Amino acid sequence: AGTALQRAKASGGRRSVYYHPAMEREARERRALEADLAAAVSQGEMSVAYQPLVDVGTRRVLGFEALLRWRHPARGMVPPDVFISVAEANGSIVALGEWALEQACAEAARWPVPLFVAVNVSPVQVQRGPVFAEMVERVLARTGLPPARLELEVTEGVLIRETDAALEALRRVRALGVRIALDDFGTGYSSLATLQAFPFDKIKVDRRFVAGLGGGSAQDATIVRAVLGLARGLGLPVVAEGVETEEQLEVLRAESCAEAQGWLFGRPGPAAAHLALEAPAAA
Ligand code: C2E
Ligand code: MG
Ligand code: MG
Ligand code: MG
Repeated sequence: AGTALQRAKASGGRRSVYYHPAMEREARERRALEADLAAAVSQGEMSVAYQPLVDVGTRRVLGFEALLRWRHPARGMVPPDVFISVAEANGSIVALGEWALEQACAEAARWPVPLFVAVNVSPVQVQRGPVFAEMVERVLARTGLPPARLELEVTEGVLIRETDAALEALRRVRALGVRIALDDFGTGYSSLATLQAFPFDKIKVDRRFVAGLGGGSAQDATIVRAVLGLARGLGLPVVAEGVETEEQLEVLRAESCAEAQGWLFGRPGPAAAHLALEAPAAA
């Protein structure tokens, strides 16, 4: 008899595949999420969590990465990997991304110490070209955050399509004094080409390569060492993502990696607890 999918295929036409129950459920699920997402900011369901980035040598907090959080009234926390892709598919990431940037810059401007804030931006935003750069400039002006305290994290996907507009956007933002970090380095298929295409200020090595450090994955250690060597050659600082153990930190220190981020130092949450440690003692 075969599965419903096989029968649909046999009966000819891709159209029938649409009726496969699992796919239909998935499509309905996505539409529901999309509708709820449209109202999430105005309903006060979105927030920004902050995760510290530390100096590998001293463990001092250097800045925070801003990570979007969506608490859905019925579903609970929806992972950003899920709702960001929905927002990218229907274009609402443009407004949501601007909201996140504004929240992060406004909050960082109020911190008692001038640490940097790193904000993730979607390729969909950056591909808008100069319009994107103008948006960043407006947000900095509105919030009063000095451009030198802002980092934008982009994944290498950003330079794959619409390269000219994306390059122009990144160049303009960088000319303001904002730093650009290449996020999740090593996970795409064109990492080296991306490094060549744009003058990044920082490279973030994806946590999948950090995972095996200190625990015995000779391959992960080789990859991290190679990335550090490459970055050193290019004069770029490297951030290791997903550092969870002292052993991993020890390897990173031995390999002179500049910065680290991960549960070992703090989970995403309010920035206040970490800032208290960094703030000069009250008189
Ligand atoms: P990312 O930019 O690579 O962010 C790092 C992710 O690793 C975060 O997941 C963080 O919570 C997680 N992480 C940090 N340290 C550790 C660790 O020690 N162990 C483990 N297992 N995980 C760790 P999160 O918050 O779920 O975010 C996932 C992705 O969603 C982010 O990956 C980023 O690509 C995207 N994202 C989050 N906020 C935004 C945003 O405002 N705009 C855009 N465009 N994307 C965002
Ligand atoms: Mg990031
Ligand atoms: Mg990352
Ligand atoms: Mg990552």
